[in-house]
Formats: sequence, structure tokens, C-alpha cells
Amino acid sequence: MVTKNKTEQNKTELFDYLVIGSKEYLDRDKKYPYPDLLCHGMNALALEMKKSIPFPKTMNGFLDLLEKPVKDWCPISFIPQEFDSDFGLMDEGSLSEEANDYLAEVLLKKGGIPEYASPLVKQLGIDNAKFTKILDKLRDAYNNNPEQAQQEYLLFRSFLIQNQYTSPSEIRNTFLRNKYISTEEVGELYEECQENQTYWYCDRCGVLTEKYGRLKGIKPRLCGNHHQNQDYVYQVKWERGLLRIKDGIHQRVCFPGIPELNLYSALEVLKEKYPGYLHQVKLYPGLDRYDLQLHFSDGAVWAIDIKDVRDPYKLAKNLKPLYREGSLRYDESFYAISDRCIANYPDYLEILRKAAKELSNATHLVSENSLITRVNEKITEFQKGGTV
Ligand SMILES: [Zn+2]
Repeated sequence: MVTKNKTEQNKTELFDYLVIGSKEYLDRDKKYPYPDLLCHGMNALALEMKKSIPFPKTMNGFLDLLEKPVKDWCPISFIPQEFDSDFGLMDEGSLSEEANDYLAEVLLKKGGIPEYASPLVKQLGIDNAKFTKILDKLRDAYNNNPEQAQQEYLLFRSFLIQNQYTSPSEIRNTFLRNKYISTEEVGELYEECQENQTYWYCDRCGVLTEKYGRLKGIKPRLCGNHHQNQDYVYQVKWERGLLRIKDGIHQRVCFPGIPELNLYSALEVLKEKYPGYLHQVKLYPGLDRYDLQLHFSDGAVWAIDIKDVRDPYKLAKNLKPLYREGSLRYDESFYAISDRCIANYPDYLEILRKAAKELSNATHLVSENSLITRVNEKITEFQKGGTV
């Protein structure tokens, strides 16, 4: 790994200011004065921007610049390794998907929100910490009471994914009898909806936002068609107490959770159909050490982790063999790439196989679809062999 010297670190910090400052600017109704972090980033950029491009004279010109690929205008020393410089910071007047991912997956995870960020951006960090606190509590509980902790974890995670809009009474009814997670803690991951507003939802990517009459999802490159006629796009009518999942939780839990639960349901259908061969499908075993554990009638155990990361090069850096201690042991292990990622990037699996250096050949890299085919093939083998 290349260790950056102090000056370089400071420069990527300026890039962070631009990302956070842009978010602050876009999120507020009043545009003046401009957010401090944005001004700070802009001034630093004005001094060091590539000489081939004149620095914009107006704010609108600057916003247009932020829509262009970062590599075209930003000094290389500013750009953090984790940001793909083929993308801009903004996209059609909103924070771009790449910038949003960087904010949620790099800055928030590292606790990298500067002290002088606006309350709104700080709130993102606080919401993220609230979610992590619940997980930590369950991990502690897992040491003494694994069954109860696992049960509450399952309930909690699936609830967030499946109920991106909910109500206080629904939360109360679901979590009332829990030992470790309180209804208040779950409630804090949601925000109140505004009276007389129309809200929207997509079965494939979750809560949608409306801008200039157009519906937009959280990751437009993986789920981009939200025309109101699509049968997976719904209107959610406001009623008293309506709550909506907060942005950070949507990004971290709900969006990747949708393909996880879909694959789980597809495998549950196979289990119901062939209970003599596929005995059990466990969701999020060991508090999500991986996503699914399959138990077959010959005693074989398969471990599956679903990945929903758009860029195979980015995913490759984080792939390691799945955890296999104790009850999490397995005979075969799989990384199943969501169908939407593969549809978006046809050579995805080949690129991933070459780039995932820390992964031994023992872990299979497959699409969601081919994983289901493999399970079906295994069941067919049992049927032919007559072993139950
Ligand atoms: Zn969608």
C-alpha cells in the first residue's frame, strides 16, 4: 500500500470538503451564504485547478464543472484513491452516485465528517453511529445468548429492508417483545414524512425522491428507470405518523438488502419444493458473517455472500474467503453477484476473477442466477442418485 505524506492527505481532505460542501449546498433551501466547506474547497481548487480549464466565474458555472468527470478538472493530488475519477461530483443537479457512495462508504465509515460540517451532514454521521450501536449491542449479546441475538438481528435487518416506509405502531408491534433492541432505537433510524406530500417507492431500489417532476433512486446506474408506469414503482400516500427510512440506512442496509432477500426467497421456494434434499436456508447466520447458509441432505453446507457493488475492481479489493469457524463452517463457498450489477457490466465476473487477488480459487464467483442453477443441479443429482 502506498502511504501518503502529510501534504497529500491534506489535499484529499480538500476533496472531502467539496463532496460534503456540495451535499450541504444541494440539501438546503437557502443558497446564500454558500456553505463554508464548499467555499474552502472552491478556493483551494481555484489555486490549483488544471491550467487548461479556466476557473468558473459564477456559482452556476462551478456547479456545471462539478458535473464533469473529476479527472478533467481536479488536480490528481486532490483525488482520494477510493473515488473513481471518471465520474463527477454531481449528476443532473443532485449529488452523483459516486459522490454519494464515497460519502456513505468512505467518509461516514471512517468517521471522516469534519467537526465544522453542517448539522445536516453531521446528522448523517450520527444516524450511521446509531445503526452501528445496535449491531454492537447484538454482537455483545451473541456471546451469551446467540439464539436470541440472532433472532432479533434477523427481525431487525429484514424489517428495515422490507419496511422503508412504516409507522410508529408497526415498529412497536414488531419490536415490542425484543430483549436487546428497543422500539425507540429502531424509530430513530426513520424520519417523519410531511403532510400532504406524495412519496414514492421502487421494489428494486427502495425509497425514491422526486426532483423537477422526475423520480430518482439512490443508485441510478443500477436502477434507473422510474417512470411512474413501471409496475415496480409505487406511490405511498401520506397518513398521520408515516415514517421514512433515513438516507444513510437506505444506502447501507436497504439497497444492498433487496437482492439478499430476493435470493433468500428464491432458495426458500426450492426448500419448500424439495425439503428432502435442501433441508435448511439460514439467512444472515452468525449475525451476518455471510448472507446465506444452505444445508443439504448429504450433510453438505454451502455459504453464500451476495455482493451488489457496481464496480468489479472496487469489489475485488475487498473480497476475502468467507468466515468458516464453528457453526459457520461450510464445504463450498460462493460470492453471488447481484443480477443488476452483471446486467450493468457484462464482463463483471471475468474482471472480478482476475482482480480478486486475496481470494483463493476455492471461493466460487457466480451470478445470482447461476447460483440458483447450481442448487437446482445439486437437487437433480440427489434425485438421480436416489439419496435423501
Ligand atoms: Zn429503482
